[in-house]
Amino acid sequence: ACTAEDVARALRAVAAVVKEHREELIRLDREIGDGDHGENLARGFTALVSKLDGDVPALPGGVLRLAATTLISTVGGAAGPLYGTAFLRAATSVGDAATLDAASVAGALQAALEGVVARGKAAVGDKTMVDALTPAVVAAEAASAGGGDVGAVLTAAAEAAEAGATATVPLVARKGRASYLGERSAGHLDPGARSTALVLRSFAGQVL
Ligand code: ADP
Ligand code: MG
Ligand code: MG
Repeated sequence: ACTAEDVARALRAVAAVVKEHREELIRLDREIGDGDHGENLARGFTALVSKLDGDVPALPGGVLRLAATTLISTVGGAAGPLYGTAFLRAATSVGDAATLDAASVAGALQAALEGVVARGKAAVGDKTMVDALTPAVVAAEAASAGGGDVGAVLTAAAEAAEAGATATVPLVARKGRASYLGERSAGHLDPGARSTALVLRSFAGQVL
């Protein structure tokens, strides 16, 4: 089972990975957007680590809620409210449970996706983070239903997200800044789908 401390450790890992991939995300967003995605996310997760250094909330849902409020107020752009909503819905989904099991993690991912879709109105194939998150949710639910533990659920989600992100390359963007490019957005990896896969991979590497 996964405690508040485990979630906090996972978020620190996310921050480190986002920092490591900052330049890559900036380059991807420069190709089909305004080039700030790596900077936006690095700023948000750095702010989150500072808050966690001060105090880690007692419950997993509290840690997820702290992530949500911090990302909403620090990331900015399209991704800030979308990531913030994802973490907020995940927090609401797990409620006041003291620990998270495989089914609650899969449920939290599903809730996160629903929040992103409610907020951004993107469908699969629109070349956004939804293209990474949707297959991740499907894979997480299958792993949980098949008796997998939290680690197995997150690993399945991360692998599916990576495949989903890669599959955005040939797509024409229909949401966000990249959609302004029309057909010229094809042939590039969507930065938000890439960062979503990175976030899930970091979670999978850290939560036991
Ligand atoms: P901005 O485009 O405002 O500079 P970012 O660069 O931080 O914001 O984030 C861009 C990413 O946000 C895109 O690559 C895409 O994955 C995601 N995105 C943009 N609009 C939407 C939307 N309506 N729904 C889902 N994801 C979106
Ligand atoms: Mg941008
Ligand atoms: Mg921007």
